Parts: sequence; structure tokens; C-alpha cells
Amino acid sequence: MVTTHSLGFPRIGAQRELKKALEAYWAGDIQATELEQLGHDLRQRHWQIQQQAGIDLIPVGDFAWYDQILEWTTTLGVVPARFGQSASLPVSLDTLFRMARGRAPSGTPAAACEMTKWFDTNYHYIVPEITPEQQFRLARESLFEQVKEAQAQGLSVKPVIPGPLTWLWLSKGDAYTEGAGDVRKLALLERLLPVYAQVLERLKALGVEWVQIDEPVLVLDMPDAWLSALKQSSQVLADSGLHILLATYFGSVQEHAVLLGQLPIHGVHIDGVRAPQQLAPVADALRADQILSVGLIDGRNVWRTDLDAAHERLQSLHKQLGERLWLAPSCSLLHVPVDLSFETELDAELRGWLSFATQKLDELRWLALWLGGKDDEQTRQFLAQQRAAVQGRRVSARIHREEVRQRLLEAESISLDRPPFTQRIASQQAKLKLPAYPTTTIGSFPQTSDIRKARRDWRQGSLPDAAYEKAMRAEIEQVVRFQEDIGLDVLVHGEAERNDMVEYFGELLAGYAFTQNGWVQSYGSRCVKPPLIFGDVLRPVAMTVGWSAYAQSLTAKPVKGMLTGPVTMLQWSFVRDDQPRETTCRQLALALRDEVNDLEAAGISVIQIDEPAIREGLPLRRADWKAYLDWAVDCFRLSTSGVRDDTQIHTHMCYSEFNDIMEAIAAMDADVITIETSRSNMELLSAFEDFHYPNDIGPGVYDIHSPNVPDVEWMVGLMRKAAQRLPAERLWVNPDCGLKTRAWPETQAALKAMVEAAASLRQAT
Ligand code: GLN
Ligand code: ZN
Repeated sequence: MVTTHSLGFPRIGAQRELKKALEAYWAGDIQATELEQLGHDLRQRHWQIQQQAGIDLIPVGDFAWYDQILEWTTTLGVVPARFGQSASLPVSLDTLFRMARGRAPSGTPAAACEMTKWFDTNYHYIVPEITPEQQFRLARESLFEQVKEAQAQGLSVKPVIPGPLTWLWLSKGDAYTEGAGDVRKLALLERLLPVYAQVLERLKALGVEWVQIDEPVLVLDMPDAWLSALKQSSQVLADSGLHILLATYFGSVQEHAVLLGQLPIHGVHIDGVRAPQQLAPVADALRADQILSVGLIDGRNVWRTDLDAAHERLQSLHKQLGERLWLAPSCSLLHVPVDLSFETELDAELRGWLSFATQKLDELRWLALWLGGKDDEQTRQFLAQQRAAVQGRRVSARIHREEVRQRLLEAESISLDRPPFTQRIASQQAKLKLPAYPTTTIGSFPQTSDIRKARRDWRQGSLPDAAYEKAMRAEIEQVVRFQEDIGLDVLVHGEAERNDMVEYFGELLAGYAFTQNGWVQSYGSRCVKPPLIFGDVLRPVAMTVGWSAYAQSLTAKPVKGMLTGPVTMLQWSFVRDDQPRETTCRQLALALRDEVNDLEAAGISVIQIDEPAIREGLPLRRADWKAYLDWAVDCFRLSTSGVRDDTQIHTHMCYSEFNDIMEAIAAMDADVITIETSRSNMELLSAFEDFHYPNDIGPGVYDIHSPNVPDVEWMVGLMRKAAQRLPAERLWVNPDCGLKTRAWPETQAALKAMVEAAASLRQAT
């Protein structure tokens, strides 16, 4: 018998039921009781799925109305003063929602708490806000209620709680100027740990045996002070008399193996997908009274597991540890879609390669049975089927294309360098003849309901190609005329034909597939449906040349070609796991290179390649940054180095910080980079200033997240600040990002004002 458990299950629902109920509740369309009931039903259903899959220990506490960290923050009674929480009353659901989104059906609105990315995933958590005087108290009962709920269903329950170090590390406060790892936060442990002890005591009273304490921060670069704090916290947790399973994921804890073996905890979970090298050293370091839980089923990706390889890897561990070896997915299944059985439109072969949360639990169960020595007909059948799918994928001609392999080999001799920027910008200037402070936009224009409807009708076949083409051309013409009228310098075609900046390209590239229902929670009620890159990427036809060339034919002003960069295409998809991400990225880069060259040949003289996701691809450990940035930058350069000197390459990045990646940004060597800066009051430019960034740069002066129209003087002021940091002749004037979520009236007013601001800057110089 090999014990199995899961670290967490997606809570949003296979049909995004939670999303819909939340939004209905926020809109006032349903009552709290109805929402509570739906939450209850979803939990029951998800536990049942896990129980039916034969999982031994079922997680409780992974459910969250908005975010699991926020659940815990409110349970600890940590509510910023602006929400007016009484220190003696429980924290209500509406206060939780106010913290997440600023408002709720009841309670006074206040500024929402910040949200940020959960480690290297696309999930976002609500950042806890703390002060040095922070008090903690048990302020919500929901964890205990859910434990009782699950027990009433007859389940073996394993509560899941964010660990004290992880919770503190992720929290922020004005007093903690050193950021996440600020050691001054550790002073709060003394007050925080007693509440953990209280929670554990309550769980014990409920008859709970094992508790999973999530400490994923252990895979980060951990300062010593925090590791000492881990000893302190483990002692308090273990003193509860409960069995503590310390869960880590997304990386390796190999360097802490000895420490883990010394802690008074009863087990450790490690991620065997992301860091298989840690299995043996951690196993060796654990004591005879500690269990090792290993995750070899990938909780971050959608591919079926190669169970033969997993079995092989586990055999010696199993011999060594016996019943002390547990199995689980690598991390919570929160990061994968719920159930493959809703994918009725994928062909059978491709579907056979996939495994979503529900299927992953099946894989887990059979792997455990097999490892435990079960060898009956049913097990053999499952394994045979699994093997056939996994091997089919390994050799499928849909995945492995000789021409792509060949192309990659040849690409090794392509020069990634363009001539020096000074030389390029001179020939671009001779051709484009742009004024000082040239104006442009980031690409998209408002996506009206007419545009969306035309796209939808065309996809569904009710709008013929010719009519669709006509509608899009009309839209492009209108956008071009508007830009000419207000006097923008470098125009765009407006991206009306694009639903999404990744999906649009993915649909035109070979090697990509799309699900109908592969939703993954991004934050709160928001879900994303990442495309799948399953095979070698190839560009069978030009993707944007027709639209761009048409736009350019309408005007004497330059129209920017508009593409999504290779790293962003990679970062926002589920990526194949049978070759390094780098290789897939190079394939994407080559496809984009062809597009760039075709755009140039079609008379497009300015081409923008958006890379908003470069920064979020950074590995969790500093030591791994350079290798990633090297190939990420190479891929961008591979896409762009085929153009003439006088073709101007732009790139765009939003919601990014730059200070620690300036070298890479400069190495991308785009002629122009546009960035989001308006809300930071140009502070973000200090990175470019300190670095003496040599190329052109367009710091956003118009916050496109808001419907407010920025005024001219304000934008002039921002640009003046920019000009204090960077040479004025290198500066462009543009919005923070694309305008697709904006409405026309404010867009028109804002862009007119922006052009006016540029004119006034020119006059002053
Ligand atoms: N070109 C894209 C647009 O304007 C850029 C979007 C983005 O950076 N997120 O919509
Ligand atoms: Zn952007």
C-alpha cells in the first residue's frame, strides 16, 4: 500500500460555476446564502472526485472564495485599518471581498489590497498587509466548518494551511522596506505562531491526524534568518501533537535536506517534476519517523504522465522508504483545468495526450497501486492504455516535423546582431522623418461589440469570409483615418481581428491547439484558457501581412506591424514538456522571424514585437536567471535580426519592473521600447537612466486601465520628468498599453490630448 494524497484541487468548477456565482453575488443578483450553498456543493463535488479516484487523504482548506492566501489572512484576523474591521468580531465574507476588490454588497468601499503573481505561476494572490504592531487572532471559522463538512461526507481529511514563513514572506507593509525577505517581519512570529497553535488545537479536537503546512518559500533563495525561523515555527506546529506535513513545490529544497531531517515535523512533500534531483538527497536526510511525499504527476501542466518513467524513478525510493513513501501531484492542481471529459472537440489522438486535474488523480492512483505491487487485469489495462498514449505522443508526426528540426539547426548560424543602433536610427530617421517626441499607440484600438460580433459570426460560419474581410477593413480604415486626423506620427491598424494577443497567433501556427473549457483560475473570478503548444511550431501562412499592408495602403504615414513575441507566446501557453522550453521558444522565434521579414517585404517599415511576459518568465532562483534571460533575449533577436537597418523594431512591455534585468532589456536591442510608466510617475525610468539605456524609449503617459482622460499638462509634466532622466531626442510619447478595453469617446479625447502634449513639448525645445 502506498499512501496517496492531493495538495489541492481547482475550486472554480468544471463549468466555472464559482466564477458565475461570485459575479452574480457581487452584482446583487443572488444572495449570500445562495453563494454559500454553491461553495458547499462545489467542495462536496471536488472531494467526491478525489475520493472516487481513490485518494487516501483529501485536502480541506484549498477552497477559497477569492484566493487561498486571503482566506488565511482573514482567518488570522489581518485586515487593514481602512476596512473598519472590529477587533472582536469575525471577519465577514463581504469584508474578505472588499479586501480583494474594494467593494462588496455590504460594507463601505475602500482601496483593494494589492494582488501579485503566485511564485512563477499565472495565479495571483492577494498580498497580506502587515504592520510591526500587527495583532493576530482567530477571526474566521470557515476552515473548521469545512473540515466538519468533509468529515460528514465520511472522508479522511487533511487540512491545508499556508505556512507561517510563506505567509509572512508574501506579506508587505510600509515598515518592511527590504521587501519579501525583510528579516524584521520575523519579529511578528512570536505573536503569529500562537494563532497557528490555536488552529491546530481546534483541528485536533475535530479528530484530524495530518495537517499540510505549505511552505513553498523554501524553494526560493532563503536567507539564514528565515531558515532559523523555520525551526522555531516547526516546533510550535509539532507541539500540537498533530502530524505535520511540510509541503514544498515549484522547485528544489535539496540544500535544506539536512535541516528538514532535523525538524520535529513528520513529513515533507517535494516536487519531483520541477526538481527530480532532490528526491534521493531528501530521502536520505529524513528520519525513520518522517514520511516523504513525492510529486511526479505534474500539477503545472496538462500532459499525461509517463508512468513507466515515474515508476522507474520511484522504485528504489520505495525500497528505501517502504510505507514512508507517499505519492501526490507535484503541487496543488489549482494550476490545471478541471476535467478533460468536457473537451469534446479535440481529436482523439491529441486528447489522449492530455490529463487535467481529474485525470491526474487517476494517474496518481494507478501509479500508487502499481508501485504497491498490484498487478490485476484492471491495473494492467490502465497502464497499457497510458503507455500507448504516451508512446504515441513520443513518435507522432504531428509533433515532430523534420523541417522544423532542420530549420532550428540552420538557425544556429543566423547572426542575431544588427548593426549598431546609432547607424540604424540614422537610416530609420532618414526614411521615417519623424518629429521630436514622436507619438504612437501600443496597437489595439477599442474593441466594440460590433467588432466582437463580426469575429464571432465569422468563426461560427454565419458571416462569410468576404463580408468579414470587408467589416475588418472598414474598421481598419476608420482607425487609420482617426489617427491621421488627430496627427499621430506612427499609426497602427488597431488589431480588430484579434481576440487575444496569443490566441490569434496560436490559431495560425501549426503545433498549437485550443481547448473549449480548459479554464484555469488567474485571480478571484477571473480565469484564463491558455492554448496548448503540443508540437513543433511552424508558420504555414503569413499571419498579419494582409491586414498590415492594407492599413499601410491607406496612408502615407508609417503603420506599425504588430506581433506577439516568442517569450510571451511561450509564457502564456501550456508548453510541451518533451523538449526544453528554450527549444520551443526558438521555434516560435523562427516563425515570427518569417513574419517580420514578410512584413518588411510588404512595405511595412516599423514592426512592434510585444514581450510583456519576459519578466514573468524569470526563474524563482537568481542563479537561474542568466540562463533564462540569455535564451529569451536570443529568441527576440532571432525574430528581429533579419530586417534592414532602416526598418524600425519596436517592443512593448507592460506591468514590469526593469531594474534587475536592464542588461537583458538592452541586449534585446529594440530600436524603440514602449513601457507602462504613467502610474509610477516615471519612477520606472530610473532603471533606464542608471543603465544609460542607449536606444529609443516611449514611457507611457496615459493610464489605459482607467476611463479617465489624462490632461495635457499632466502628460507634458510626465514627459518633462522623463526628459530629466533620459535624452529628450530618444523619447517617444505613447499610452501605457493597448486600448482594446477602452471605449471610443475617452480614447479619442485622450489621444488628442496626448498629441497636443507632444506638440507642446516640441515647441518648448
Ligand atoms: N499590442 C497589444 C495591444 O495593444 C499589446 C497588449 C499587451 O501588451 N498586453 O493590445
Ligand atoms: Zn501592454
